[in-house]
Amino acid sequence: MKKWWLGFILTSMTVFLLSACGSGGADDSSEDKPLQVVTSFTIIADLAKEIGGDDVDIHNLVPTGTDPHEYEPLPEDIKKATDADILFYNGLNLEGGKNGWFFKMIDTVGQKEEHIFSLTDQVEPMYIAGEDGQDEEINPHAFIDPAVGIKMAEAMRDAFMKVDPDRKADYEKRATAYLDRLKEMDQTYEEKINDLPEADRVLVTSERAFQYMANHYGLKEAFIWEIDTEENGSPSQIKSLVSFIKEHEVPVLFVESNVDTRPMETVSSETGVPIFEKTIYSDEIGEPGEEVDTYMKYLEYNINIIHDGLKGSE
Ligand SMILES: [Zn+2]
Repeated sequence: MKKWWLGFILTSMTVFLLSACGSGGADDSSEDKPLQVVTSFTIIADLAKEIGGDDVDIHNLVPTGTDPHEYEPLPEDIKKATDADILFYNGLNLEGGKNGWFFKMIDTVGQKEEHIFSLTDQVEPMYIAGEDGQDEEINPHAFIDPAVGIKMAEAMRDAFMKVDPDRKADYEKRATAYLDRLKEMDQTYEEKINDLPEADRVLVTSERAFQYMANHYGLKEAFIWEIDTEENGSPSQIKSLVSFIKEHEVPVLFVESNVDTRPMETVSSETGVPIFEKTIYSDEIGEPGEEVDTYMKYLEYNINIIHDGLKGSE
């Protein structure tokens, strides 16, 4: 009788322990169960798809068409974040920093710190003027630069290998292949920008999202507003871009897929500089099946648009 009870208790404890660490993803029993991944926005979701392959199930938080700087998680997001084995966010204050929506959600669901990974710890931050025009703040849009994409993919690979060591070799293999493609893309950026006459290497966009990329490949940047969270297209912001354009030879203006086009239309009509016919991508990739539905296509599309827009205006 006693032995039977002991056996029962031990079995119940084992079942309890197994289910308790079931979300850890690293125990043998869950080897063919996909790792549960939560990503903060579309670009990171695509990286997870590339590097995680069949070994992961991805739930992405901020969808295409929604601002990743300010977001209200849905009940489904909260549930997925609670159960996730691993969570990825951009960092560099894209998700509003320590007091932003992502960490508020993390606090709510009580996730473990060792499951949460920023992808930009190895990225040197660049700064923009803050809302009061005085204090500087970090520019979150590092991922627009393919060289930063390389660092983010490496960080994701290392995180997967740490949290799910049983499938280490798979993550490493997929990451290596993907990193090779990113390195080629970095080369393409260099070549396409070097192909432009020096005087035409000026990138004008609505939000100052292209700072890292412009700085890396030698483009001069100009913009209407510093970041989407501030006022977008006030008369003084428009005035200052108009005077920049009057002082510099600007061949063409670009508008991003996720912004109000009217402020740039005003700039165009006040300066006579045309807006390029195709929009550029900044804070998102398109929905699956759309022209720019992966990070790799996003990088390629942007450099082609920038190159063709600036080149065509010679
Ligand atoms: Zn933005």
